[in-house]
Amino acid sequence: MKLCVLGSGSTGNALLLETEDGALLVDCGLLWRDLKVRAERAGFSLRAIRAVYLSHEHADHVRGLDALARRGAKIIASPGTLSALGIKGIPLEPGLEILGMRLFPIPLSHDAREPTGLRLELDGIRIGIVTDLGQVTPLVLEKLRGCEILIFEANHDLEMLLSGPYPWPLKLRILGPLGHLANEEAGQALRSLRDWAKTVFLAHLSQENNTPALALETVARSMDDWQGHLFLTYPDRPSAVVCGG
Ligand SMILES: [Zn+2]
Ligand SMILES: [Zn+2]
Repeated sequence: MKLCVLGSGSTGNALLLETEDGALLVDCGLLWRDLKVRAERAGFSLRAIRAVYLSHEHADHVRGLDALARRGAKIIASPGTLSALGIKGIPLEPGLEILGMRLFPIPLSHDAREPTGLRLELDGIRIGIVTDLGQVTPLVLEKLRGCEILIFEANHDLEMLLSGPYPWPLKLRILGPLGHLANEEAGQALRSLRDWAKTVFLAHLSQENNTPALALETVARSMDDWQGHLFLTYPDRPSAVVCGG
């Protein structure tokens, strides 16, 4: 398998995961032309995409969906997300099998109808993907146990958010239990997962209330003497590509 985060953040989220049987796109917040350019740059082909999983209905996760649906990709999401979008698709049940993988939903605390993260199991590799969550619940940690590869939200630096330009109602939404995760919260959660995690991508960084250096530094400090690989993801270009299996 081969994995790359093609884009991450409030301007558009998409992660491409290729197996021998085809590719799964996790979230589709980029328009087709951007998806195509970035996928090719990262060494992937969009022709391989057989299915799209949607974490929730916010525009930065579904903006490019029409183009993929037109090309025949199956759409997978929680029943609540499918109904919020008004589309038919495959409701994500625990253990759903597709492209040689098993998919498990991870219920997330976020201001959408039924947002879910994803645990993927294939060829003995376990991958956990959680962005857009206001708090790390015990259930989230339980579902991520054993994952070797993690894509984890590190949205904002608390001080930057508090002293930054956003209006108060928006600051409160981001800080609240249905908002987004701070670097510190990501660091604490990842620390408790570090016995399994070998590769971690920090995702959904705010361009106004965070810097890549702060996110990396905060999480790395929390992970202490962890020996794995820590990568960033970007709003405007693909991340590093990880291969395995
Ligand atoms: Zn988002
Ligand atoms: Zn969201």
